[in-house]
Amino acid sequence: MKLDVNALRYLSKDDFRVLTAVEMGMRNHEIVPAELVDRIAGLKHGGTYKVLKNLLKHKLVHHDSSKYDGFRLTYLGYDFLAIKTLVNRGVFSAVGRQIGVGKESDIFEVATEDGTVLVMKLHRLGRVSFRAVKSKRDYLSHRSSYNWLYLSRLAALKEFAFMKALGEHEFPVPTAIDCNRHCVVMSLIQGYPLVQVKQLQNPDDVFETIIGLIVRLAEHGLIHCDFNEFNIMIDDNEKITMIDFPQMVSVSHRNAKMYFDRDIECVFKFFRKRFNLSYEEEREHDEGLVCDSGEDGGRLCFSSIEKSAGFLDKELAASGFTTKDQDDIQKYIEGEKEDGGEDDAEDEDEDEDDDEDGDDEDDAAAEEEDDDGPIGVQISSLKIADQPEESATS
Ligand code: ADP
Ligand code: MG
Repeated sequence: MKLDVNALRYLSKDDFRVLTAVEMGMRNHEIVPAELVDRIAGLKHGGTYKVLKNLLKHKLVHHDSSKYDGFRLTYLGYDFLAIKTLVNRGVFSAVGRQIGVGKESDIFEVATEDGTVLVMKLHRLGRVSFRAVKSKRDYLSHRSSYNWLYLSRLAALKEFAFMKALGEHEFPVPTAIDCNRHCVVMSLIQGYPLVQVKQLQNPDDVFETIIGLIVRLAEHGLIHCDFNEFNIMIDDNEKITMIDFPQMVSVSHRNAKMYFDRDIECVFKFFRKRFNLSYEEEREHDEGLVCDSGEDGGRLCFSSIEKSAGFLDKELAASGFTTKDQDDIQKYIEGEKEDGGEDDAEDEDEDEDDDEDGDDEDDAAAEEEDDDGPIGVQISSLKIADQPEESATS
């Protein structure tokens, strides 16, 4: 998806007021009736309608007149609200190039006033499978808040909370800087995803470190659940950083052992294949790691890890991530897995404003309506870094 932040410069105070009104209306409406937007925004002389046209032009809202005349936020509109909030807070002042595109996220470099480059991750849950989201509404039908805005916001909050807590426990993770709506801001890791690395000076050490991390995570009560070569960053000194936490679960999860084994297996497999290392045998004699001499031969044994489930609970709660949040997002993630990405073929990625199926919004994201300061604070300070590659190396 394109994120043309340029438009941000031209949006007025009224534009943001109306955009925020749409967001607020989405708490209770799939499609927010135009009159409701008008009422919330409270602009004089029918100003709302003119502004809505402008927002439509910039693809920040989507017009839907299938049931009644109404509007909803697009991803881009949601992006702008989050970016503006973070710019107002002084977290960053420029948005640069896109450095990653995941299945359910877009990752950009951003720069602070003093030129420090950070990373902004915009979560896009439901992007791949809006239809799946809709089909899974049933099991969450008791909740009125199951929609992509809500899910993406939860994913961001979860990622932020985990990154912060893990960092405080000295796990090698990016520094968690801030979070708003579906957006997480973190430090930039100088390095590459392990998947891009063809050769290592010390593959054994790197392997040990990675397995050690999985074990240490479990000792802290956590399983990454997506611990693979795409989510492990490595730098020129072969220092490891782990990223991407929205799917983490507690060791008390009913499938914890399976997830743990899968993470371990993934690493074993990758190192075997990429670096031709045969670890199974070695592991059995390795004092440092607990091994299972069963049929899997050399598999790390989850049950022998001394677990302290919930160790991080307090820290997570401190970031505002509750057990209920965890339940909600877990239901979505597990639903996704069961569906096995069935909807990939009908990926609506590009312009989310076309995905009619995505209109499941009822509740949403406006939430703590403005922690952000007054609507329409000058955003002209938002510079577009046109040479981000240069600053990236600074
Ligand atoms: P997804 O959930 O979409 O997989 P990730 O968090 O794994 O998103 O990020 C996708 C890619 O973006 C990573 O593989 C990496 O290349 C890049 N990336 C993410 N976070 C950072 C970071 N803090 N520093 C540098 N690159 C990053
Ligand atoms: Mg990833």
